[in-house]
Amino acid sequence: MKQEKKKVVIIGGGITGLTTAYYLQKAAKERKKDFEVKLIEASPRLGGKVQTIVRDGFVIERGPDSFLERKTSASRLAKEVGMDDQLVNNTAGKSYVLVRERLHPMPGGSIMGIPTQIAPFVTTGLFSPFGKLRAAADFVLPKSKENQDQSLGEFFRRRLGDEVVENLIEPLLSGIYAGDIDQLSLMSTFPQFYHVEQKYRSLILGMKKGIPSPPKKAGGEGKSKNKGIFLTIKSGLQSFVEAIENHLEPGSVLKGTKVENVEKAENGYDVVLNNKEVLHADAIVVTVPHQAALSMFSNYPFFQPFKDMPSTSVATVAMAFDESAIKEDIDGTGFVVSRNSDYTITACTWTHKKWPHSTPKGKALLRCYVGRAGDEAVVDLSDEEIIQIVLEDLNKTMNITAAPEFSIVSRWKDSMPQYTVGHKSRVEKLKKDLSENMPGVFVAGSSYEGLGLPDCIDQGEAAVEKVLQYLSSVAENTQKQIQNA
Ligand SMILES: Cc1cc2nc3c(=O)[nH]c(=O)nc-3n(C[C@H](O)[C@H](O)[C@H](O)COP(=O)(O)OP(=O)(O)OC[C@H]3O[C@@H](n4cnc5c(N)ncnc54)[C@H](O)[C@@H]3O)c2cc1C
Repeated sequence: MKQEKKKVVIIGGGITGLTTAYYLQKAAKERKKDFEVKLIEASPRLGGKVQTIVRDGFVIERGPDSFLERKTSASRLAKEVGMDDQLVNNTAGKSYVLVRERLHPMPGGSIMGIPTQIAPFVTTGLFSPFGKLRAAADFVLPKSKENQDQSLGEFFRRRLGDEVVENLIEPLLSGIYAGDIDQLSLMSTFPQFYHVEQKYRSLILGMKKGIPSPPKKAGGEGKSKNKGIFLTIKSGLQSFVEAIENHLEPGSVLKGTKVENVEKAENGYDVVLNNKEVLHADAIVVTVPHQAALSMFSNYPFFQPFKDMPSTSVATVAMAFDESAIKEDIDGTGFVVSRNSDYTITACTWTHKKWPHSTPKGKALLRCYVGRAGDEAVVDLSDEEIIQIVLEDLNKTMNITAAPEFSIVSRWKDSMPQYTVGHKSRVEKLKKDLSENMPGVFVAGSSYEGLGLPDCIDQGEAAVEKVLQYLSSVAENTQKQIQNA
């Protein structure tokens, strides 16, 4: 008896879904597995939050602009799809924190705001003498209770005091999550800090011990002096997405089609599309944000714990200028803004300095963020209003009075999932519930186990392994049934 080809449906064509499709098809070829992969994407384009505009010689990222080099899955995938020669590191430079209307250089040796060198911390104007003394209490304070989730705010405030948190740690961390650090889960965002505390008790001493010694200089030294810790794709991150898409088998992607529902069916699942077509699936990888998953699985209770999981709205504002428009040039690559400053922008990257390839000679490209937890109304203003607000803020720091040559406002509504306290156990429960009640359905993507591009790629790769294991176990069971019949 000839068995039907198994069908794997991937829902969502952002970086997570694309990675899943790519590695599944690769595994099918390499391991000689015979199954069909279908990727379904609601919008007419793939990439989700990854979007690039190339205009007048500028390469402008509307969503993510780079990824951490040390998380190697993204550069590995880029190389696999032929983008090796497009990978480029950022230029390392000074960065600043804007506190109460003044730009302060980031204290040397601070890692995510945690001081690891005493001198820069003692001399910085970022904190009052009392704030510095309070941070030093970290040397003597006891560690947290084992395995207890807590908010990032609670953890850092206890160890280093409110001032260090508000003037340095909060602006840096909320720059990544656009979140409220008093709600974000330590264990789902930066568990490494918890582990450092458990091991060394003092965060400062532990981080100091954990710093790898600088690499020994080999030939060609000096070349990489300004090499930063991030990578991007010179031609734009969207071209990375396109390269992955070009490696997918023809006919395996369905764009402009939304998944409405997923229902259990005999021997698998029905995936109901908005064009009323119903696809049969033996296995499904759900890579859409949790809000979309909740509505797709509304007939089942498994995603309900994510009903109250907030997602913050942000907007990026890219502004192209002639270099001469910037009257007060600052040595560095950008700044983040503390909540105690009278500013609307939350961060600004001097993109032309951090990513020189992105900007033609003689021009400047600034990319600002607006919107963060508790401060999101600005995202709903018109483009003109947002641009005006951003220009006023920029004028305060860099004395830019000229109008930009052009501006691009990109709104990301409800797009930054907030891993609030207890998130990790909710994700574990979801996975367990699915494996017990909807075997063959897996989740991956930014709502669950990391929102950086490499984290999404890691989750896509992990989902591929789970699908392969699941299909093998189904095939074994079917074989046994045939033999026993
Ligand atoms: C402004 C911004 C800046 C960022 N900066 C960085 C950065 O510099 N570095 C970094 O590493 N990360 C960054 N991130 C985070 C990172 O971009 C995202 O976490 C990541 O791109 C999410 O990928 P994903 O595939 O999980 O989800 P998404 O990109 O959201 O993709 C999900 C896809 O599912 C589709 N979909 C939704 N509903 C349905 C449905 N019913 N049926 C079918 N398809 C559906 C959507 O259209 C979308 O294409 C940033 C995020 C934002 C918003």
